[in-house]
Amino acid sequence: MFEKSTWIRLPRNVVVGHGVLDDAIEVVEELHIGGDPLVITSPTPRQVAGDRLVAQFREAGYHPETVVVEEARFAEVERVIEAAKRDDTAFLVGVGGGKAIDIAKMASDHLDTTFVSVPTAASHDGIVSGRGSVPEGDTRHSVAAEPPLAVVADTGVLADAPWELTTAGCADIISNYTAVKDWRLANRLQHVEYSEYAAALSEMTAEMLVDNAASIKPGLEESAWVVVKALVSSGVAMSIAGSSRPASGAEHLFSHQLDRIAPGRALHGHQVGVGAIMVEYLHTGEHGHWRAVRDALASIDAPTTADELGISEAEVVEALSTAHEIRDRYTILGNGMNPDAARDVAEKTGVI
Ligand SMILES: [Zn+2]
Repeated sequence: MFEKSTWIRLPRNVVVGHGVLDDAIEVVEELHIGGDPLVITSPTPRQVAGDRLVAQFREAGYHPETVVVEEARFAEVERVIEAAKRDDTAFLVGVGGGKAIDIAKMASDHLDTTFVSVPTAASHDGIVSGRGSVPEGDTRHSVAAEPPLAVVADTGVLADAPWELTTAGCADIISNYTAVKDWRLANRLQHVEYSEYAAALSEMTAEMLVDNAASIKPGLEESAWVVVKALVSSGVAMSIAGSSRPASGAEHLFSHQLDRIAPGRALHGHQVGVGAIMVEYLHTGEHGHWRAVRDALASIDAPTTADELGISEAEVVEALSTAHEIRDRYTILGNGMNPDAARDVAEKTGVI
């Protein structure tokens, strides 16, 4: 008897390219939502795209409201929820690198409204996926929400973002290699639900990015195009899987733990990239593919050492040996590495 079923939630409109911010209203109208938007943005993205978008909404006869968020905090999510209720908002629009989009995503999940993602930096795959998390003290508020109903990614805007944000996005994609390895392991050892389609798409996305690494250069709109398409593709893999598994394994646990131990020091993508070097070593050993992962990161200017992350040796060892505690996600870390073993891996891979 066949009893399987799946429900794949994808964005409906994904519009990527030069000048597409000018098409944002058309993209929204095509969704037939009706009602007025609440634009969630932060100070720099507001200047880069937020104000322009609000003006476009006004010209088109909408009555947009704006909330400017400063920090990725749960209190900010609540502020957005309050504003949306007060203004009787029909949908949310997140305009930003990650913070504003994460907050919009979490608020829309709570409000049960849809949201539109307008990334101003190609810094991580959360700009397309439904997955979001906001750190709060020692914990993280995570949501497994729907993906944005539409994504409007203007490559002109993305290419102007600070270069390290783009290299962070690249590193987040390169970490798909180890995420998929962890997923397969979890499937074999724990019968965690696994999708061959999603795994293949996620790996192919990392492969294509690495193959194109030479063409990813600061200030080039073409580079923004390559990276944002890869982030979209990674997001689709997560949608097919119905989980973040295709793009998040032990290297993400390591990064989340760094967020607790050494908050605000380095970008998410850069942390997962360094984590991926060590996790690849754990999967395939000294003669495995960890050098290829490291070289791929280096080729796009992403950090490969603790020093470049601005994190101490002790912090790396602590994060790696306690990463398994972060959440109930089975990975190569099993029920934890002892600190000596963690130090050993970090030293052998040149991370410390
Ligand atoms: Zn990530």
